[in-house]
Amino acid sequence: MDPASPSDEPPVFRRVLLKLSGESFARPGEGGINAEEVRRIADQAARVARRGVELAIVVGGGNILRGATLARGTDVIKEATGHYMGMMATVINGLALQDALEGIGCETRLMTPIRMDEVAEPYIRRRALSHLSVGRIIILAAGTGSPFVTTDTAAALRGKELEVDIILKATRVDGVYSADPEKNPHAVRYEALNFDQVVREDLKVMDGAAIGMCRDNRLPIIVFNYKREGNIERVVAGESIGTWVSDKARPAARPAEAG
Ligand code: UDP
Repeated sequence: MDPASPSDEPPVFRRVLLKLSGESFARPGEGGINAEEVRRIADQAARVARRGVELAIVVGGGNILRGATLARGTDVIKEATGHYMGMMATVINGLALQDALEGIGCETRLMTPIRMDEVAEPYIRRRALSHLSVGRIIILAAGTGSPFVTTDTAAALRGKELEVDIILKATRVDGVYSADPEKNPHAVRYEALNFDQVVREDLKVMDGAAIGMCRDNRLPIIVFNYKREGNIERVVAGESIGTWVSDKARPAARPAEAG
């Protein structure tokens, strides 16, 4: 096999939840939405779904707005309002991703826990499961529907109730590091971590609420670099890229072939 091409191995996960931060919709260092970036991420997601993996995607909104950031240092906009605005931002990203996926032949549903019938379906767990069972990609926007948490928490919550095998946390670095690898050249990447270690060392995997929920519910997480073309497929095929976060061992991990 061409070492640069994604793995042809059968998927080791049957149902996955992919958490895409808002930054994956923008060019590096920029805000807003860049159509090329959206197309790239949609291409990768589509290939995973075509291999028969049931795919739920939770989208963030930090490329547009974060409630806590907006409210900081002002009382003009209430913090709760800022968080609702942040949830609206995730819907904007969700709409973009939906078009990109549908444009390449994937059937999708955009679902939100805040009613907005003209643009999205209400999030109903049983309906979400039914979409997954017929191969539709579900895009979950507007987080949990409640302020003061993030879409990481939404990912953990939906991951649990949709009984996914794994949360795939897409980032622009190759996994979880001992320090910020974009600032510290001596930072080392962890191959695997247990939840205690993540909490004890305050490692940047997902926010604290999400980590607590994943730990309590024994939901494993893989933190990996979505910027390397084909990495979502590689992770789903069981290649040992990124950082595995769980109290259990990684299933059938095979050596990384590239990236
Ligand atoms: N948000 C919220 N409740 C949720 C999910 C998100 O209030 O359940 C708001 C919160 O203000 C958050 C913003 O939406 O900052 C955008 O989501 P997030 O910061 O998680 O986006 P990401 O960092 O993944 O781009």
